[in-house]
Amino acid sequence: MIIEIPQEPAPQQQPDPCANQVLTRFNLTDSSDGHPPITPCVQNAIAQDFLDALLEINGAVPGGIGFTEVFRTRAHQQELWDNRANNPNPVARPGTSRHEGGFAFDVPGMATRDRRGQLVQTPLGRTVIPIFANHGFAWGGAFNDPPHFQADPTQHGYANSAAAATAANDYYERCIRGR
Ligand SMILES: [Zn+2]
Repeated sequence: MIIEIPQEPAPQQQPDPCANQVLTRFNLTDSSDGHPPITPCVQNAIAQDFLDALLEINGAVPGGIGFTEVFRTRAHQQELWDNRANNPNPVARPGTSRHEGGFAFDVPGMATRDRRGQLVQTPLGRTVIPIFANHGFAWGGAFNDPPHFQADPTQHGYANSAAAATAANDYYERCIRGR
């Protein structure tokens, strides 16, 4: 007699949506100046450059630096956009911000304005801005956004900022939020 032993069907191999790491989480100091708490993630592609810059800054600035904004969800970008009239700094249209792509972060205290409204770098800014620049992060002072630093998503495999924003937001929702 042959006894048929029912075979368990082989489990379907599900591709892990988190296998390809898009964002890297850092332990950053929140400048806690009335802004919502930061979401301390950057694109994995720039994580090493970011870490190298932070280590150099921590050696040069006693106590290190704080952050007001790092990664932004689409919802948070929409809030900022809706309130942009009250923001002294430029706000990108939701879906296009480099913050939504994990390619930007904001550090307060980089510059003040003189009587004519021109940006003047503070001593902290004169230390921090060149270090970030050496590691691939451009200062936003060039386009009147003094707390802002950014890297270029097109140099890290993305067609544009919108594509990076979609990838980073998808990854954040699936693989980071609530974990
Ligand atoms: Zn910014």
